[in-house]
Amino acid sequence: MKDNENQRFSESLGNPKGFQRELITKSTSVDKILRLGVDCSRCGHCCRYGSGFLVPEDIPRIAKKFKLTKEELIKNCLEPVAKFNTTLHRPVTVKNGKKYGTCIFFNTQLGCTIHDVKPLHCKISSCNEYGEEISVWFHLNYFVNPNDPQSIREWKLYLDSGGKNIPGGTLQELVPNKEKLRKILSYEVLK
Ligand code: SF4
Ligand code: SF4
Repeated sequence: MKDNENQRFSESLGNPKGFQRELITKSTSVDKILRLGVDCSRCGHCCRYGSGFLVPEDIPRIAKKFKLTKEELIKNCLEPVAKFNTTLHRPVTVKNGKKYGTCIFFNTQLGCTIHDVKPLHCKISSCNEYGEEISVWFHLNYFVNPNDPQSIREWKLYLDSGGKNIPGGTLQELVPNKEKLRKILSYEVLK
C-alpha cells in the first residue's frame, strides 16, 4: 500500500492527520502483531470477563505444561467456540452466577497462571490503539476460512452490519474469482 493510501486508511480509523501508524493487513506477520500487541498492562480485566482463543499451535504447548494429552486438555480445560463457521477452543470460564465468566487459568493474586504458554490470542489482545485491528487480523486469519462458503457468507454479514475490516479482508480479496464469489453469496455453492 502506498504512503497516501496508508495515511487515508489511518485517518479512516480516526487518527489525526499526520499520525504515523503501522499498517496492519490480513497478511501482517505474527511477529509484527506480537510487537504491536505487546503494550498490555496485564491488569487482568479481560481474563476476569472471558478468555482468549487458542490457535492449533497453542494446544500442544499448554497440554505439555500440565502433562496432559491434547485430548485431555480439551476435555478438562477448554470449551469450543464457533465463529464464521470455524470452531476454535478457549479456556473454560467460570461464571459463579455472574453474566461473564473468569478464565480458569486466571488467579486474582498471580494473574495468568500459564503466562509462559498462554494462547496467541491472549498475547496479542491489547487495549492500545492497534487493539481493534489486531482483533480483526486474528479473526481473518484464524476464523474466516476463504475455502468455506458458509464462512465467507458469515463474514459478509459481519461486514454488512458495519464490522471493522482491514486490508486483505474484503470479500473480493478473500475470494478473487468473481463468479465463485457470486455463487457463494447466492447460495449456489453450499460447501
Ligand atoms: S489486554 Fe487490556 S484488559 Fe487485558 S490484561 Fe491487557 S491491558 Fe488489561
Ligand atoms: S489464558 Fe491467561 S491471559 Fe488468557 S484469558 Fe486466561 S488468564 Fe487471561
